[in-house]
Order: sequence, then C-alpha cells, then structure tokens
Amino acid sequence: MSDLDELYQEVILDHYRRPRNHGVLEGANRSAEGYNPLCGDRLVVYLKVENDVVTDVSFEGSGCAISQASASVMTSALKGKKRDQVQALFEKFRSVVSGEGGDEAAAALGEMGAMAGVSQFPTRVKCATLAWHAALAAMDDTQTRTPAVSTEP
Ligand code: ZN
Repeated sequence: MSDLDELYQEVILDHYRRPRNHGVLEGANRSAEGYNPLCGDRLVVYLKVENDVVTDVSFEGSGCAISQASASVMTSALKGKKRDQVQALFEKFRSVVSGEGGDEAAAALGEMGAMAGVSQFPTRVKCATLAWHAALAAMDDTQTRTPAVSTEP
C-alpha cells in the first residue's frame, strides 16, 4: 500500500465513522433518494436551494463505507455551489472514480479525490457516485413542496 493509498483510506474511514452534515436537514426545500441495488446502499440527500445556490445540504442513509463516506465528503463540497458548478464537480469526480482522471485530477479534488481508489473496483463506482446522483436529482426537483422536515408530531 502506498502512502497515498493509506492517506485516502484514512479520509474514507474518517468520513464513514464521523459523517459530516448527517441527518435530516431542517428547512430543506429539495430532496431526493438514491438506491444502489448492487450493494444495498440507500441514502437521501436534502438541499436548501436559494436562487439556484445550495445554501445548506445534508444526507442520511445506510450502506457501505464508500457510499457513506462519499456522501459525507460531497456535502462538505456543495455548499455555496450553483447547479452547473455541482454538475461540473460531479463530472470531475466521476472521471476520477472511473479511473479516467489520473492522480493529478484526484489530487485537485481534495478529499473527494480520496475516492480515486474505487476505480480499481468497477462495481464500487456506483457506491461512490450514488450521493451525487441523488444531489443532482434533488437540485432538479423544482416542484414546490413543503420542507422535508415536518414540525408536526
Ligand atoms: Zn456500496
């Protein structure tokens, strides 16, 4: 195992054990579910979007370390981003986890680059991208709806 692999492993385990932005988001106006039947990963991404900008984000769910850590890392990266910036970031992330990006592209992604090792396991790529698909679906979820969090008992 190289030093880089070890560092990446640490980032993934850290986010898996102590997920950031975890739980239902109060005041969320968008949400979408993601399900990866290949692995059994399930998650829901909650967004608060104002004027096309993600002002807050959270997720909850269960599944393998890759899916949960990737969701945690993603939520840390989305705040303050517009729809097209989220899409652009996802394209970069997807190229890294599918092995097309190379080490340099992975390094440029910061903690998100820690998922680069997934490229050696094609079946796990869906685990790593699950949260992103849910986040993009949530951004496109433009129907007016009551916030995902109900204050009713
Ligand atoms: Zn998985």
